Amino acid sequence: MPYQILRDINIFQSSVWQTNAVVITNEAANIIIDPCYFPVEIQIIADFVNRRKSFNKLIIFTHSDFDHVIGYQYFKGAKLLAQEEMKFCDASLQLAQLKEIDQTYYIKRRFPFVYPELDITFETTQHIHLKDDELILFHAPGHTADSCIIISKEKRIMFAGDYLSDLEFPFVYFNIQAYQRSLELARKLVADYEIEYIVPGHGEVAAGQTEILTRIENDKAYLSEMVEKAEDLFIQGLQEHEIMEVLKGLKYRDEPITGSMLRMHSENIKMVLKELKSF
Ligand SMILES: [Zn+2]
Repeated sequence: MPYQILRDINIFQSSVWQTNAVVITNEAANIIIDPCYFPVEIQIIADFVNRRKSFNKLIIFTHSDFDHVIGYQYFKGAKLLAQEEMKFCDASLQLAQLKEIDQTYYIKRRFPFVYPELDITFETTQHIHLKDDELILFHAPGHTADSCIIISKEKRIMFAGDYLSDLEFPFVYFNIQAYQRSLELARKLVADYEIEYIVPGHGEVAAGQTEILTRIENDKAYLSEMVEKAEDLFIQGLQEHEIMEVLKGLKYRDEPITGSMLRMHSENIKMVLKELKSF
């Protein structure tokens, strides 16, 4: 069921939203990142982890969105770790979204979902020492206030949470400028740690410098074009709905944005306008 990109790095991709859960098997601790999504899928991940003895189990949440925190109850005795802003996220909003989807698709969950209480939180960075490897977590707000990026130093992998997916342009729920800074941070980390793989929260793994840098540049270009055009039109005195209409025509990776993605794009434009007005 899982596939390995490197020894000890196991990826379980859900059949919904191509959401990636990761299990890093290590003698010091088994690390589980964002276990998800359907009950049967989470059970498979839990069985896989339980077959590999390790005294410690640690679940890392890349951020507070429901699709990334849904599976933790299947891992008995696991410690829960995330960036500290997660303590202040709108858990009721996440619960409502989860409930709506579960109701729509008649998904039956073995454990009634309770929003996780964290055992360990960090502010800016967190180091996790494993046998022959070290994970470093970096606070990278933008998608959400509590998003983080995880690096495996030895394996040269970046676990990017909801950044740098091949499936979607940036979804900015928190702040555009913070998102841009986090993309810059990602680029710096790729260089500093000679990253060879990026595992996004959704979609395919990016392998090799060309693909990695292309993803970063595409996302940066999308956001900076949106911000610059919005500023121009704002200065020209256009009304918000007029700016909205113009910006809806923005392209991402040279393709027009259409269908269900247009709604997410409009939300991003609203965020840009909100930040512009706050100056
Ligand atoms: Zn997600």
